[in-house]
Amino acid sequence: MSTTGPQDNSFDVYVERVKESRIGDVDLDNPGFGTNFSDHMAVLNYSDGQWQKPNIVPFAEFKCSPSLISLHYGQTVFEGMKAFKNSRGEVIMFRPREHIERLNRSSRRLCIPEIHPETILQTLKKLIRIDREWIPVKRGNSLYIRPLIFGSDNFLGVRPSHTYTCIIITSPVGLYYKNGLKPVRLATNCHYIRAAMGGAGDVKTPANYGVTLYPAREVQENGFDQVLWLDAKEQKYIEEVGTMNIFFKLKDSLVTPPAMGTILPGITRDSVIRLAKEWGMTVIERSISIDEVIHAYASGDLEEVFGSGTAAVISPVGEIVHEGRSLKMDAENAGPFTQRLYDEITGIQYGDREDRYGWRFAVDP
Ligand SMILES: *Cc1c(COP(=O)(O)O)cnc(C)c1O
Repeated sequence: MSTTGPQDNSFDVYVERVKESRIGDVDLDNPGFGTNFSDHMAVLNYSDGQWQKPNIVPFAEFKCSPSLISLHYGQTVFEGMKAFKNSRGEVIMFRPREHIERLNRSSRRLCIPEIHPETILQTLKKLIRIDREWIPVKRGNSLYIRPLIFGSDNFLGVRPSHTYTCIIITSPVGLYYKNGLKPVRLATNCHYIRAAMGGAGDVKTPANYGVTLYPAREVQENGFDQVLWLDAKEQKYIEEVGTMNIFFKLKDSLVTPPAMGTILPGITRDSVIRLAKEWGMTVIERSISIDEVIHAYASGDLEEVFGSGTAAVISPVGEIVHEGRSLKMDAENAGPFTQRLYDEITGIQYGDREDRYGWRFAVDP
């Protein structure tokens, strides 16, 4: 591998188009979430010590050996971002550079060679332009973009792969939670943890999700939507929701757990922090214990709780249960601040609010 880092291969994307589009099979007004995939996908291979030039090819199944190293040992990273189409037909991605940077940060943690950011960006642009008909126009719907990189050696041994595959697939999506902005119900599950300091809780790698399925099923059997994770050491401080970061509005301040290694530093989280500061709110990234939240609830200081993440954007929290104590917030509607954030972020995404921070990225030249 070159010592100057990955090279930019973006100007030479090979394209093979589908013979016939499948778009007629999909209801773009009601696409569900993560079940339909657009006509094309991007594929990049890493071999001979470097990332080869990107290919855009028809979306198709691929064969792999049962000994594929990343299936066994999880040397895999991914991202999740979105593209939007507005009523004028303009297509924009939301903060793609930050997502690409995070993908490379995840790769470093998993010993996966980085891809030149410009290569990914230009490949994304091309892929989205080719499948632009797949981007829903209906407000609330969008094109979800999923880059995935995995070690592709056929070898049964725990060591970094010598070859890798990066695929980028896209999926027209509606609201992540069926109920839209209907508040979700969270419960702690103190028998389990999501990530400990020094682990990989701050990168998007499948291991962080597989191990949360069982604890999530336990709370779901009791009628909750998701686990509210507490810290691994003391089961005392709030971390995140496992696909979303979390915020607590305590009067005029907004508190969110610090991104210090055990939680995923969300890009939506960053957007929320920037907007809340701009609106004059005191935003504090600090440890917040479940006991403090219970106290704030009892004293009336806890006004709103919400999660943030690309898939759902902003998700109001209607209830938190911890060891038999229930904190009940508005079960039907988002609070005013939560709603304002949702409206502002989606407004910027669909292009009817001013983009003051350069978050919008046009895919057309
Ligand atoms: C992706 C993800 C988030 C949200 O991050 P965004 O960049 O806002 O999409 C939060 N927590 C976890 C564990 C995640 O995987």
